[in-house]
Amino acid sequence: MKRKKVKINFGNLILLLIVIGLLGYSTYYLYNYFSGDKDKPNEVDTKYENKLVKKLKSLGYTESEAEKITVNLNEEIVNNIDKKYDNLVELSEVKYFHIENIDRYEELIKNSEYDINEVVMRVNTRIDKDFYTNITNVQDQDDPFVIVNKYYALSKDYVPSDLINVGNGQRMKKEAGEALIKMLDDIKNAGLYLQAQSGYRSYDLQSSLYNDYVSRDGKEQADTYSARPGHSEHQTGLAIDVSKDGTLSKAFENTDQFKWLKENAHKYGFILRYPSDKIYMTGYDYEPWHYRYVGIEAATLIKNEGITYEEYMVKYKGSY
Ligand SMILES: [Zn+2]
Repeated sequence: MKRKKVKINFGNLILLLIVIGLLGYSTYYLYNYFSGDKDKPNEVDTKYENKLVKKLKSLGYTESEAEKITVNLNEEIVNNIDKKYDNLVELSEVKYFHIENIDRYEELIKNSEYDINEVVMRVNTRIDKDFYTNITNVQDQDDPFVIVNKYYALSKDYVPSDLINVGNGQRMKKEAGEALIKMLDDIKNAGLYLQAQSGYRSYDLQSSLYNDYVSRDGKEQADTYSARPGHSEHQTGLAIDVSKDGTLSKAFENTDQFKWLKENAHKYGFILRYPSDKIYMTGYDYEPWHYRYVGIEAATLIKNEGITYEEYMVKYKGSY
């Protein structure tokens, strides 16, 4: 009898707790519902977001813009935003958007008709600025993925440490050179002759070549086909000009050798570095003979997507 009474009281207690709990929860739910937080799934997760949304709203962003920005960008970046940018919402949706370029993105949007992805790509590859401006000295000159172009330069004294002979008196860095030798062997087995025409070039050699071209054709013209010293990919030891007869000309495009390379070069890790449809980006005329070693994985991706090495670096390496 006594025991039973205790049991009943215990049951009532549970019931009371459930009622209190339900009342508390429904009050909390109704409060959130009417204070505009009904679409926030989890109060704990969104606590910092609410703070950032509030901050962005104080800078002039609408609630919905502020929410998108806090979803697309991390807390640290949002914390550093200190003004209203016209296109920040759309820009923050591009995968390779970099906040430090925001003013240049905004400027290019204002002055062009490019879509948002193209704007971000052009700024990240620096081509919103003239060639040979904003030049950066390459930090890791031995990096096999090194980018050397009209914005990135090698130092005067840089010489790759592991150059090997690749035939015809030419040299390349070991890994690239071995890949080239294999490629030249295989094209030979396919019944076609191809040779290394120009591999590694020193800064001084490039300097004298470039100066000769300038005195012959003028600087503007020379810049379309010859790199200024320090800016030649040949100085990396990762680039090669190939030829079937000792000449380098656009007619190479119509040869069986070129056709073979187009289908197979990526299997050896090589890419056509200066394609005809990307002159605006590379700054060089079409060069069907110039190949760059980037490894099989990158070369395959670049070939399949029809992009330049610069675009590959922006899309897949974050930046360079
Ligand atoms: Zn070349």
